[in-house]
Amino acid sequence: MVETLIAIVVVGFAVLVPYYYWYRVRSHSKQAEHKLKQAEELGLIEPVSLHPLIDPNGCISTGACLSACPEKGILGIVNGRAVLVSPSKCIGHGACQTACPVNAISLVFGTARRGVDIPHISENFETNVPGIYIAGELGGMGLIRNAVTQGREAVEYIAGNNSSNGDDILDLVIVGAGPAGLSAALQAKLEGLRAVTLEQEDEFGGAIITYPRQKLVMTQPMIIPEYGHFNKPEVFKEELVELWKNVVKNVGVKIVCSEKVESINRGNGHFVLQSNKNSYTTKKILLAVGRRGTPRKLNVEGEKSAKVAYKLIEPDQYVGADVLVVGGGDSAIEAACMLSEQDGTKVTLSYRKDIFSRIKEGNRVRVDEAVKKGSLTIIFESQVKKIEPESVILDCKGEEMILKNDYVFVFIGGELPTAFLNSLGIRMETKYGQR
Ligand SMILES: Cc1cc2nc3c(=O)[nH]c(=O)nc-3n(C[C@H](O)[C@H](O)[C@H](O)COP(=O)(O)OP(=O)(O)OC[C@H]3O[C@@H](n4cnc5c(N)ncnc54)[C@H](O)[C@@H]3O)c2cc1C
Ligand code: SF4
Repeated sequence: MVETLIAIVVVGFAVLVPYYYWYRVRSHSKQAEHKLKQAEELGLIEPVSLHPLIDPNGCISTGACLSACPEKGILGIVNGRAVLVSPSKCIGHGACQTACPVNAISLVFGTARRGVDIPHISENFETNVPGIYIAGELGGMGLIRNAVTQGREAVEYIAGNNSSNGDDILDLVIVGAGPAGLSAALQAKLEGLRAVTLEQEDEFGGAIITYPRQKLVMTQPMIIPEYGHFNKPEVFKEELVELWKNVVKNVGVKIVCSEKVESINRGNGHFVLQSNKNSYTTKKILLAVGRRGTPRKLNVEGEKSAKVAYKLIEPDQYVGADVLVVGGGDSAIEAACMLSEQDGTKVTLSYRKDIFSRIKEGNRVRVDEAVKKGSLTIIFESQVKKIEPESVILDCKGEEMILKNDYVFVFIGGELPTAFLNSLGIRMETKYGQR
């Protein structure tokens, strides 16, 4: 009797365990396929910068890369091979490459379809324009540790070659105060350089500020100038922002916020930078502007109010609110749809043209569904005239329309740093899936 029971249990295990394993693999694979299809429909299939290129013939489907990726849900197994299922969310950690036991992953810039422009930089971070240096993600390498290290090393080099001759000219202007610019600013202070750091946003921190609330940020050991070794492998976004604020305050480094550098001209052996507020004359420039670009503004009264934003980080923060989204491209449509899916959120989309002419098919379907459901109203041929604390005024073909409003999201395009670099004569190379 006991023997029979044991035999049943053994046979049961022998059948159930492989079945359970097969079932899990199959359902993961289905989820991955679904994610990939969704990304394709929404046109989110192009990685921003450095990302894994997986050799389908080399991949033996161990799933090691899936477990290693700290961002989760970016890689999946489809048809027995690892693939990027959410390409646009990959931030280039490279943990997947290290984890692959058969070296089937390489890290590359751009794809065969969409090239990525990478500036030429010497080992000292100098571009082909003598005196202009680049650090951080703009140079191609993402990640906080890389940005911090490059910002520090670039300034060490600049300081080592600095010659002060008692004039009024600054030694260095640092453009951008993300991790690369902040690290550079702190190093410049340490080196005793006469330096100014300019940041276009009203707070410093760069991309970190845009992370979702409580995001667990993965970092590798790094040296932050004037702080020392930072060895935490994981840290919440808020802790990291606080750390930067404290170091900047304690050291007394001045970061000038709300100043966007608009042009740079060469003078007599120096540079003249023009921002939206001031002009600076400097011997050297470090560009640490990242790769995200600058959002275009509406330029209307009330736009400086805190309720106006140019990116949507957490749609669930706007549950039950009256929201206006401005724009007619994919970013505007995606934001409007995400907001319209929140409980009780009333979303109006204002677009200056009479039709959406350049959106992806998946977004067209999504927007039609939201309108049908009544969660989204579209006002074509309208423009924002004024933003008030509790309302917005639209100009609809000459007629004024007043809408009750809590938040405004503006997605009317932006300037990519590539155009800025081109205007400075910085040489670039377009990479199509290469290193
Ligand atoms: C959602 C998300 C999650 C991420 N998670 C991680 C993670 O867990 N770990 C990790 O290591 N990395 C992560 N990253 C990547 C990391 O944030 C970036 O690699 C890093 O911030 C790059 O630093 P940077 O200083 O080069 O550029 P940025 O952080 O982009 O900073 C550039 C700054 O320059 C300013 N600027 C631009 N143009 C001008 C101008 N003309 N005048 C004045 N200022 C200007 C911008 O406003 C910005 O503040 C993540 C990125 C994203 C988007
Ligand atoms: S490069 Fe980083 S974010 Fe991208 S898939 Fe690999 S581990 Fe994940």
